[in-house]
Amino acid sequence: MGVRVVSAPWVLTGSRPAPVVADGAVALDGDVLLAVGPRAEVEARFGRGERLEAVLLPALVNAHVHLELSHLRGRVPGGEGLPAWIQRLVATRASTPEEDAAIEDAVAQLLRFGVAAVGEVTNGLGALPWLSRAGIAGTVFLEVFGFTAPRIERALERARQLAAAAPAAVPGLRLALSPHAVYSTHLPILAELLRAGPGSLHLAEDPAERRFCDESAGPFARMHRSLGVTELPRLGRSAVSVAAPFLRPESLAVHLVDLDDEDRGLLVAAGSTAVLCPRSNLHIGGRLADLPRLLSAGVPLAVGTDSLASTPSLSPLAELAVLSRAWPQLSPLRLLALAWNGAAVGAPGVGRLAPGSAPGLVAAPLDPDSARERPSFAPARWLLEEFGPAELPLTWLARHRPEPTA
Ligand SMILES: [Zn+2]
Repeated sequence: MGVRVVSAPWVLTGSRPAPVVADGAVALDGDVLLAVGPRAEVEARFGRGERLEAVLLPALVNAHVHLELSHLRGRVPGGEGLPAWIQRLVATRASTPEEDAAIEDAVAQLLRFGVAAVGEVTNGLGALPWLSRAGIAGTVFLEVFGFTAPRIERALERARQLAAAAPAAVPGLRLALSPHAVYSTHLPILAELLRAGPGSLHLAEDPAERRFCDESAGPFARMHRSLGVTELPRLGRSAVSVAAPFLRPESLAVHLVDLDDEDRGLLVAAGSTAVLCPRSNLHIGGRLADLPRLLSAGVPLAVGTDSLASTPSLSPLAELAVLSRAWPQLSPLRLLALAWNGAAVGAPGVGRLAPGSAPGLVAAPLDPDSARERPSFAPARWLLEEFGPAELPLTWLARHRPEPTA
């Protein structure tokens, strides 16, 4: 296959030392990136290319999604906090049949929004064939929960059977058993699963978790008592303090809305990646995770959408747009880095235009009459303040191809 050269007014590389290239270009051999840089340099090496009036950027990562809840889109009202939302979700899910068409649409949405890798959380592996077919990489977290030993044993047994019967995942898409949350998962099994490898844990999503861990009281305690659990020992000061001893650098800690300084210190020490799902958090509890504090503490970060049951779309850029509006002082490139954290989901090639790799490359078309004519046009800010919130589709120039594993 011949070399394809594409130039554009702006190229975002996702990496230093040149995160933004004005009048830039890329050279591609199929999906493999041969070069990225100033147009003059790339064209001198590879010849004159086609011109796109667009911002080129690395494909994105949606580090937390539940595709098999896609049929519940718009059907689970929020606003009263996590325990109330979970009860509505469980009731609605029980009375609404799953639809393959909803998962298929959701995967098409991921592609439309430029997603090359996901952290998919599943109870039934329903989305695995769709993700494989779409060539989306990352990790499928097969989630187990059950607060008592007998319940978690049954959940584990079922999950192991599902995993054993699963179709072979395509290269770049791995499967990992994973605990749901501190308030829902038998602690010794939560610890064992996180120690065993990649895992994703819903953590500190709501103040009710702190109350449950510290006082064995509140809505989560009532939920367990109504299921017949009679002994609820104090677990610890906060959900983070309970989970922290078992969190590892390859663990994802999802949500982190209700944190204190001590919690943040524990997260930094664990080295786990915090996955923020801002629109879901606003829908369910009306609160955002404190991104500036997480950044200054040095917690590694990624962004997810959560499921369509609590967010209006699966667009990582639309999620970042909410964070950008809440904290306009944060640099747009610092925010975009949250959607380029391929390593967080086991797809380290995704999110930066490194020559020799195939990270996935997308284009955000510029409106020829407006955006690029502005003298102060800043492409990263435009992505977060205009393109992202409008939920416009990205165009694929090259797909992600996982690195062959040794
Ligand atoms: Zn979730």
